[in-house]
Amino acid sequence: MSDSNFHIETLTVHAGVEHDPSTGAVMTPIYQTSTFAQTDVAEHKGYDYSRSDNPTRTALHNSLAALEGGKHALAYASGMAAIDNMMKLVKPGEQVICGNDVYGGTYRLFTKVLAGYGVEFAFINTTDLEELENAISDKTKLVWLETPTNPMLKLTDIKAVAEVAHRNGAWLGVDNTFASPILQQPLSLGADFVLHSTTKYIGGHSDVVGGAIITNNTEAYEQLKFLQNAIGAVPGPMDCFLTLRGIKTLALRVGAHCRNATQVAQFLADHPKVSEVIFPGLDNHPQYELAQRQMAGPGGMVSFVLHGGEQAARIIANNTELFTLAESLGGVESLIELPAPMTHASVADSPLAIDPGLVRISVGIENAQDLINDLKSALNRI
Ligand SMILES: *Cc1c(COP(=O)(O)O)cnc(C)c1O
Repeated sequence: MSDSNFHIETLTVHAGVEHDPSTGAVMTPIYQTSTFAQTDVAEHKGYDYSRSDNPTRTALHNSLAALEGGKHALAYASGMAAIDNMMKLVKPGEQVICGNDVYGGTYRLFTKVLAGYGVEFAFINTTDLEELENAISDKTKLVWLETPTNPMLKLTDIKAVAEVAHRNGAWLGVDNTFASPILQQPLSLGADFVLHSTTKYIGGHSDVVGGAIITNNTEAYEQLKFLQNAIGAVPGPMDCFLTLRGIKTLALRVGAHCRNATQVAQFLADHPKVSEVIFPGLDNHPQYELAQRQMAGPGGMVSFVLHGGEQAARIIANNTELFTLAESLGGVESLIELPAPMTHASVADSPLAIDPGLVRISVGIENAQDLINDLKSALNRI
């Protein structure tokens, strides 16, 4: 669907999905095939081998590109595979400036894998433009950040950072996993690349792992496409289908996540056993004003700290019923976790280490009062 005048709710339902030309099937079929018959030697109908391209994946690419307002999208086997492909555009000796509050797996990939190949990484607080101005230089190829961050939910001004990056001849890549394209579209704010772990809000049902990169830079897209085929970090047709199916309800789900998280965050903020609630929708959030300006809603993630510290945090995490104790986020069901020993164990003993008493919840689309009652009874156990 080429018409970019449609609103995002319409794009979630229709973009990329065309009625199957051979049967009229309304939903894109799962083209569960590795190879495609050729009409003559090296002549085919656009598909020759499913590592290179597959029609179910093409539909997902077109959908993701439309949602982020980009020209090109590529889907990957996981969010990490997408980030790894992205970083292969950076050569040894070049530098990546990365936000200092990023997904633990991103930090691990950068410091434990890619640094060994000669790419330089600098971790800074991207919410502070002065820190960025001081760190950036002509060897900086890429600025990489998350907003909101995982798990501290800090916000960075995408437009302002894009301006600094471009003035210094660097690209800006934004990991938009926490916001989803419903709440924020980084390309429209000047970013060069958008990344998603589609495992989270985009897939939305905790049943598929995937990643994506979206860009308007055709030259970089062609390099990424070459790399993807050369390296092979591709999602299977079934995974693409599940992700496409999830996208149909993305706008509805994200709306419900935001409404429920707002109520849950308010409940926690008013609770005497809770010492701090971090949520971009509360007016005491350090970047509340930026959240209002940059995002269409506060998101579904809430982090909080209890007066009882780590011990109390462990009690809460073990005593909720609706909130499942699990890693990941962005699915329809509510999850609870302690980032320090779980999702962010890979940053322990690093400058990015997380307070062991921090609790992170991914607020699902259940009834808000049921979720609040669940947290209330877990809090009573402390
Ligand atoms: C989960 C996550 C990733 C990694 O994605 P996978 O699909 O698990 O490989 C990257 N960035 C953020 C912000 C995430 O939450």
